[in-house]
Amino acid sequence: MKVGQAWKDASAKLAAGGIEDALMEGELLLRQTLKMERSEFYSGLSGELTTSELNRLKEFLTQRLTHKPSAYIRHVKEFYGLEFYVDERVLIPRPETELLVEKVLEMVHSRLTLRQAQGGEGLLIADIGTGSGAIAVALAVNLPRSRIFATDISGEALEVAEINCRKHGVADRVPLLSGDLLTPLPQPVDIIIANLPYVPDSELLNLAPEVRWYEPRLALSGGPDGLEYIRRLIDQGPAKLKPGGALLLEVGMGQAEVVAGMVHRYFLDVTVYSDLAGIPRVVGGEGITQMSLISGCLNLTF
Ligand code: GLN
Repeated sequence: MKVGQAWKDASAKLAAGGIEDALMEGELLLRQTLKMERSEFYSGLSGELTTSELNRLKEFLTQRLTHKPSAYIRHVKEFYGLEFYVDERVLIPRPETELLVEKVLEMVHSRLTLRQAQGGEGLLIADIGTGSGAIAVALAVNLPRSRIFATDISGEALEVAEINCRKHGVADRVPLLSGDLLTPLPQPVDIIIANLPYVPDSELLNLAPEVRWYEPRLALSGGPDGLEYIRRLIDQGPAKLKPGGALLLEVGMGQAEVVAGMVHRYFLDVTVYSDLAGIPRVVGGEGITQMSLISGCLNLTF
């Protein structure tokens, strides 16, 4: 069978099985079968598939029809222009999370200028709940003088993060730390960032089958109002930030306002950034209040 025909058939099967974007999904699975880049695939549509290629494609299609995400079938997901290894131990990096990376880079570049003028070093950053390590690695690749602590409570997730740190040659600048939220951090940092689980329990059942059946519940479920981890992280933040430090958090749809209110209890300047779909997605806090610094040192929350 010709590649073009196999693509048509595969897409039709996917569409009939209720898979969205069937044409694109079919292309991904075929390219995985043929181990081809996009341009190679498009110029090779009249080529013939071998029997073993056809069998492999069939196997991939069977998996995708069970709603297994193609990122878990292909074991790859692009994030911030880099390729990451992924499997069912970690959440698949989402395009909207690139905003978090972008905002950190903007912030760091303005601070690095200051540091460099003083002949200083790069910054210390912490990515809390790193999962696949996508955020930490994207930052490390783009900030060759900074060190990024990456924490996760899931040992399995840290195994995947390690694969990605090595893949991108940043393992020496991305220490992987196991533990709950900020507790494993060995020292205060300049910037804390996190894409924590924020889906309210009541909404877990409404998630797409791809997410609900295959992605780790631990990486999605944020308790009754979705803010269980975000709330705890904000309360722990001031104690683990250097003076002048900043906090940047990804939030779910409809959560930005209430999270901004929480951040405002500890930080003077609070900013909400919207993603490409116009959804308020990242909440940032800068300028820790004196009171927070003092209570942070005393380990109090108020
Ligand atoms: N954005 C993810 C989703 O809606 C949730 C990720 C998270 O909880 N941090 O599927």
